[in-house]
Amino acid sequence: MAAIPEGVREVLEALEAAGHEAWCVGGCVRDTLLADLRMLNGARSPVLPPEDWDVTTSALPEETMAVFGERALPTGLKHGTVTVRTAEGGVEITTYRLDGAYRDHRHPESVTFTRSLEEDLARRDFTVNAMALSLRGELRDPFGGRADLEEGWLRCVGDPDRRFQEDALRILRGMRFSAVLGLDEEDETERAMDRNRELLREIAPERIWTELVKLLCGRYAKEALDNHPLVISAFWPEVLPMVGFDQRNIHHCCDVWNHSTVALANTPPIPELRCAAFLHDIGKPSTFTLDESGVGHFYGHAKASVDLAEGMLRRLRAPSEFRKRVLRLIAWHDRDIPRTDKGVRRALRLLGEEELRLLLALKRADNLAQAFAYHGRQLEIDRGEAILDRLLAEDACFSLKQLAVNGNDLTALGLRGPAVGRALETLLSKVVDGELPNQRAALLEFVTES
Ligand code: ATP
Ligand code: MG
Repeated sequence: MAAIPEGVREVLEALEAAGHEAWCVGGCVRDTLLADLRMLNGARSPVLPPEDWDVTTSALPEETMAVFGERALPTGLKHGTVTVRTAEGGVEITTYRLDGAYRDHRHPESVTFTRSLEEDLARRDFTVNAMALSLRGELRDPFGGRADLEEGWLRCVGDPDRRFQEDALRILRGMRFSAVLGLDEEDETERAMDRNRELLREIAPERIWTELVKLLCGRYAKEALDNHPLVISAFWPEVLPMVGFDQRNIHHCCDVWNHSTVALANTPPIPELRCAAFLHDIGKPSTFTLDESGVGHFYGHAKASVDLAEGMLRRLRAPSEFRKRVLRLIAWHDRDIPRTDKGVRRALRLLGEEELRLLLALKRADNLAQAFAYHGRQLEIDRGEAILDRLLAEDACFSLKQLAVNGNDLTALGLRGPAVGRALETLLSKVVDGELPNQRAALLEFVTES
């Protein structure tokens, strides 16, 4: 079994030496067991060892504070959490606890400490998250989490309806664990996720957003989404018209929903890219028209997708930089790939290198989610990318900071105020369009003469 990190061992040892019980618990135990299992099965992509190691203990918070003295910080005393500084970073230690009745599908009324590890494990969401591991490698697993992990099941601890009614965020956490770990939802858990989805409306948008981003970046995100469009519709009802929407066009073999999730599955797990892939065609159902030969068209759908996606991202309080990038990717997804140096330099000027590469990745994925006969477009994307690589290697100029003159040079020529900025923008356009070389003398001469 993967080793417990030194800092965590030290914390477990100190608690035990003071006469308390102490265990690693939750995600770190799950991911450790899973890494071993996948290694045994010869998986090509072993699960990474866990980053956060949570510790649970029979010691009351004040007892934990007493064990660690100055190294302990009371970071969440109300919930029984103390953070201890170690040479390897902070370790969170939480007292065994029971959650009282749930008030609003979010928060327990009260938190009660207990001396029973089993009671603490029973309050946890899924069996695979309800295991504890000791210093000596003993596993406490009262709900069969290890067997579920071995067989690939995601299952609630206890009655799924009750658990989702206590805290509706667990529904989305469940989808996230399926998406990231590739677990299959056990039938009752799966059905209860859909049944209780409306309760997600009571969950803070920020908490939904955090889980959703992890879900979208999971290796099995497509499968998790395809399984639960209804859950997603609880906070993003805009997705439902995509489901089953026949595109009536030979370019497409999938309905809009499946096209979107296949596109998503063909992108690398970069949050903005995954999000753009999922939402790039969300404006299609509302822009659908049929021509006289019975072929479907979606004129203006990129703009319609941007408008819908903007509202959706704002509703979940996605950070504004994130939102803007996703919207630019969606706005650009249906434009032709630039095939000339000038075209690529223009795109670079507007998007920058990082975002242009994301756009190419989105276009690749969008194309791969279309009918096979059109996959030849991958070659056009290859050509665009080759031009991009060459221009960057040649240090092509596409931004003001790369221009061979700056504001001071223009002020020295007598320009003032906004005229300086305007002249710089003009020079950059001329350089990007290949009408002027990016050379100081030539640029200054152009300004003097115009
Ligand atoms: P990650 O890899 O994202 O850290 P994790 O399982 O460790 O996954 P955390 O949010 O760090 O998730 O929570 C730690 C543990 O606390 C979980 O493994 C689970 O046992 C418990 N837990 C967290 N959130 C809930 C919840 N909403 N309801 C019940 N138990 C929860
Ligand atoms: Mg964790």
